[in-house]
Amino acid sequence: MINIRTGEVKTNQKNFYDDYKRTYGFEPLKIQTEYTKEEIASMEELERKREEKRIEKESRMVIFKYRCTVCGSITEDEDGLIIDPEETAEFKEIKCEKCQKEEQIQKRFYDFIKDVPIIFRDNLNFNQNKKLLTERNSILYGAYGVGKTTTAYSIAKELWMDQKIKSFKVVREIQILNDLRSDISDYEYKNADLLVIDEFGKVNNTDFTKAQVFNIIDYRNDWDKKTILICNASTTEELSKIIPVAIQDRFKKCVIKLEGKTKR
Ligand SMILES: [Zn+2]
Repeated sequence: MINIRTGEVKTNQKNFYDDYKRTYGFEPLKIQTEYTKEEIASMEELERKREEKRIEKESRMVIFKYRCTVCGSITEDEDGLIIDPEETAEFKEIKCEKCQKEEQIQKRFYDFIKDVPIIFRDNLNFNQNKKLLTERNSILYGAYGVGKTTTAYSIAKELWMDQKIKSFKVVREIQILNDLRSDISDYEYKNADLLVIDEFGKVNNTDFTKAQVFNIIDYRNDWDKKTILICNASTTEELSKIIPVAIQDRFKKCVIKLEGKTKR
C-alpha cells in the first residue's frame, strides 16, 4: 500500500517488488522516499486508469432491470455476466413478487365466490371474505334468499381445501334443539372444526335449551373452533334481538350483512 502523498510504503507481501512492478510498470521507489511532482502525477495517472478500467468493467456487467407491468416498480438484478455495454440496463417486463402474490390472493377470492349466487356476489367484497375466513366466530345476516347458506358452504369449502379444517357441520338451530331434547350427543356440534348454525334465533326456545346452545358455542369458542351463525334479519335492530346479549361479544368482530334481490 502506497500513500502517494507521503511516499510511505507498507506491505506484508513477500513478492512486494514483483507485484509493484507488475502493477505500476516500474521498480518501486525506496521506502519513505520523497516523490517528485512528476512521479506523483504519473502514479495518480495510473490510479486513474485503473479506476477507469474498474468502472468500465463494472458497466459491462449486465444489470437486468425489471419493470412490474402492474405497479410499475423497478427491481435490479446483477447476473455477473460481462457482455456488450449496450446490453446493460435491459428492461424486462414482469410482475413483481408483491403483485404476483396479490394476484394469487385475488384469484383465490374469485374462485371462492364463483359458487356464490350472482345476486349476492356483487355485495361480497374482498375484506369481508378475508374476515369470514379468518375470524373465529362470524354472523351472516340478511333477508331471505340472499345466499347466506351458500356463502357459509363456500367458506367451509375454502377452509377445507386450505386444510384449515378437517370437518364441518351445517345445521339448523332447531335440529340442535331437537337433538338436545332427545338426549342425542352434542359431541359433533361441539367438536366439528367448523359449525354453521343456520336459521339461528328463528325458534323461540325455552331458557334451558337456549343455555345449552350457548354452552355449545362457548365450548367451541374456548377450543378455538370456528362457529358461523346465520340469521334472517334485515336490519341490525332485528339482528340484535336475535343474538342474545350473552353471546354477542363472541361474534362482534365479524358481523356481515348480505344484501341483494331475493332469488326466490
Ligand atoms: Zn408490482
